[in-house]
Amino acid sequence: MSSIFLANARIVDGTAPEPSAPQGVVIEGERIREVAPGARPPAGATVVDLSGKVLMPGLIDCHVHVVAVEASLARNATLPDSLVMARSIRLLGEMLNRGFTTVRDVGGADHGQVLAAREGLFPTPRLVISGKALSQSGGHCDFRGPFDNTPPRFSRRLGALGRLCDGVAEVRQAAREEIKGGARFIKIMANGGVASPTDPIHFLGFSREEIIASVEEARNAGTYVSAHLYTPEAIRRAVECGVHSLEHCNLITTEVARFAAERGAVAVPTLVTYDKLSSEGEALGIGAEAVAKVDDVRLAGMDSLLRMRDAGLAMAFGTDLLGPMHRHQSEEFVIRGRVLPAQEVIAAATHVAAKLCMMEGQIGTVAPGALADLIVVDGDPLRDLALLTGQGRHMPMIMQGGAWMKRG
Ligand SMILES: [Zn+2]
Repeated sequence: MSSIFLANARIVDGTAPEPSAPQGVVIEGERIREVAPGARPPAGATVVDLSGKVLMPGLIDCHVHVVAVEASLARNATLPDSLVMARSIRLLGEMLNRGFTTVRDVGGADHGQVLAAREGLFPTPRLVISGKALSQSGGHCDFRGPFDNTPPRFSRRLGALGRLCDGVAEVRQAAREEIKGGARFIKIMANGGVASPTDPIHFLGFSREEIIASVEEARNAGTYVSAHLYTPEAIRRAVECGVHSLEHCNLITTEVARFAAERGAVAVPTLVTYDKLSSEGEALGIGAEAVAKVDDVRLAGMDSLLRMRDAGLAMAFGTDLLGPMHRHQSEEFVIRGRVLPAQEVIAAATHVAAKLCMMEGQIGTVAPGALADLIVVDGDPLRDLALLTGQGRHMPMIMQGGAWMKRG
């Protein structure tokens, strides 16, 4: 088995406010075997000296849509699958180049993409997927206009982020089909959304009974429900129904954040997407009404970070970008760093995210037994989170499962 030895590795993984003392890291095959100050290179190992650099676990983005190849989700859902897949391969490669070695897809990706990634057919982050997100008629995945009641035609397309289901029986069936198809968790749209035409932000998506049914189906399969949420009312209701992963949460109150924390839920803020929808959305073909909705949630976003932090609610890293806006993925680090300590911002994309992906100890850590998903950074991101931006410019090395994806 080939082995690699990383010498003088100062580790930044979000568990401490300063980089670690220099460590030796032994990698054998796809996993890390040893991490210790006195570790020695095994015979025949390739030795890489990381003096002056920082070693991090590969980054994890917990809210992406890898099939959102266009900014307009309505148009995205009409594209041929082959075109969506080809463009998605490019998006995935770019994510990996930014240091994201795992992404959690919360609507759209299918199991064929997971298998293609596992077969190593193209450079890509590991994929943890929900399959199609579940939405009610008139909900966040319903792109039909107000007077269009034709049955939704494109819900099975690769470019569709979600599928429509109404009533407990249909919700159960949709959840079961997604799990059967390889979903690792279930995503539901439980609040209004920006990109959909007939659901203002304050709308509650699904009845309590429908949400509870989705939670039961997820639990039956040993997993959890993630929900698209903005308002305190929607968030409280979702948590009461047993939802675990709370996406966006821009309008959350401290009281609801505390309640969610008590129940062990995890929030996934996605602030960068509102910034970019506001500045670039209209030029990319998103309707003016949708752009106008953005400010309903964008302006409250920064305060939401502080409220969730004060309440002790765990936060994972997420971005939720669409089409050409994907290039801003790493700017979420800098946005959060304006109000949160860098250590907590990094933790969101390492061990907190790993747990939400149900891969704790496997990814998001530099420790014996973990997968060797690693990035090397020129400088200390605890002092300057912008080192994680720039399309991987400050990352001379990226490794996934013990294989170099980049070695500058
Ligand atoms: Zn999303």
